[in-house]
Amino acid sequence: MHRPRIMHLPDLSLISTDRIPASFIKSELPVDVLRLDKVHDVISGNKWFKLHKYLEIAQAEKKSRIISFGGPWSNHIIAVAAAARIYGYASMGFIRGEKNETLTPILQQCQDWGMELCFLDRSEFDQEKFPERMIKEDDLLIPMGGYGIQGMEGAGTILDHCRQQDYTHFCCATGTGTMMAGLLNKITADQTVIGFSAVKNDPVLEDHIRKLLPDYRGPVHFETDKRFGGFARYNEELINFMNELFEASSIPTDIVYTAKLCYAVIHKIRAGEFAAGSRVLIIHSGGLTGNYSVKNGLLIM
Ligand SMILES: *Cc1c(COP(=O)(O)O)cnc(C)c1O
Repeated sequence: MHRPRIMHLPDLSLISTDRIPASFIKSELPVDVLRLDKVHDVISGNKWFKLHKYLEIAQAEKKSRIISFGGPWSNHIIAVAAAARIYGYASMGFIRGEKNETLTPILQQCQDWGMELCFLDRSEFDQEKFPERMIKEDDLLIPMGGYGIQGMEGAGTILDHCRQQDYTHFCCATGTGTMMAGLLNKITADQTVIGFSAVKNDPVLEDHIRKLLPDYRGPVHFETDKRFGGFARYNEELINFMNELFEASSIPTDIVYTAKLCYAVIHKIRAGEFAAGSRVLIIHSGGLTGNYSVKNGLLIM
């Protein structure tokens, strides 16, 4: 398996805005993709943006260890493990579910980079019952998915890497909603953010987003995955779409977030759901490590 080189910081100068060919979209509406996936193999996409303000706190407060939380396939937890390693912090991950005999490739790499893994029973994890005795004073706790004011503000700086005024719509994938909140915090009144949830139905997403933005009174537009069966599920249609998009544009996507995002946006455009004159920016939030769970040989990227 491909072992990423991690011992370097994310490089934001690699971010580009790539146009998807109109022949692929089957529409004249311009659709650009903000390639946050390019900044790093592992601390890719929105993960770096959501983490960097927490890392500043760790430095300012002279913390020695970083702790965070996630599932066994979490892009967040692998990004935390890599960032901790690069910055010279110890790290610990609380992982949802029992320890299996073989670790997922994500957790294997976390462990290789020095992260201590602590498995918690699913119900304890979901109720956030984390063993207090394991947490020390010089630990920095980063909430799951980087959810919090620092994560939201860090995500808002994503828009510093494009010509924000050129777009009417920003389309992003959502998990915890931290990134979407950051984007909503930065747009002007004539711009719209549309979130595409990676989860089938998520009744708390809007509340979580509004909680990060107490002064925001505008709409929170989001759609949930109705087609592919829910979180991290994929089928032949999605795999074919990913391969076709890659052939047409050289843009790789992942099965969990960005492929479903691109699929949904392009189908909305084909269905005429964006007004003429709209200029759409799709935020490529990275996450290509999500494809570790895809059977070998299905993807060409
Ligand atoms: C983690 C992740 C998300 C979800 O971000 P939230 O801020 O939790 O909503 C979206 N896309 C990719 C590729 C991710 O890895």
